[in-house]
Amino acid sequence: MNLRDYVRDIPDYPKKGIVFFDITPILSDPDAFRHAVDCLAEKFKDCGATKIVAAEARGFIFGAPLAYKMGIGFVPVRKPGKLPFKNRCVTYDLEYGTDTLCMHEDAIAPGEKVLVIDDLLATGGTVEGMLKLVAEAGGEIVGCGFVIQLGFLDGPKRMQDAGQEHCFLLE
Ligand code: 5GP
Repeated sequence: MNLRDYVRDIPDYPKKGIVFFDITPILSDPDAFRHAVDCLAEKFKDCGATKIVAAEARGFIFGAPLAYKMGIGFVPVRKPGKLPFKNRCVTYDLEYGTDTLCMHEDAIAPGEKVLVIDDLLATGGTVEGMLKLVAEAGGEIVGCGFVIQLGFLDGPKRMQDAGQEHCFLLE
């Protein structure tokens, strides 16, 4: 199965000149969705993680079933004001400006092994925010996985600069 057949390119979304890669056709096809989650599970089967960290909203869609399949915990990362318990928040750089992501303070124990998952790696800002949150909690990143990597943007280089290996299913 070629997952690329299930990703729809939407020109000029959310702004003129940007092509958005819509992953909802993967989700609506049970075989494609299962295949995507199974492929990520295969890639990370020996990583030793005990938690998956993923950011809202599309990161949840792949991160949660992967955590279920791997038999490990799931930690939601959200925008400020969304998580009910004590928050740990970090600000990370976007192409123009900054953004903030938060995680529950007790979600990752010091020394805990963590796998970071998202649907797509673009500029790398979102994953950088998640890496910072895990580092501040004292967790150890043992892998980063994406369904799609946009190789023409800064994400792959930013991962390399952070000394962080990553893998993806599609480019
Ligand atoms: P980055 O922070 O690497 O620039 O962007 C990645 C984040 O933004 C991911 O959480 C992803 O869900 C979202 N994102 C940015 N561009 C796209 C896109 O073209 N398609 C999808 N599905 N998500 C995107």
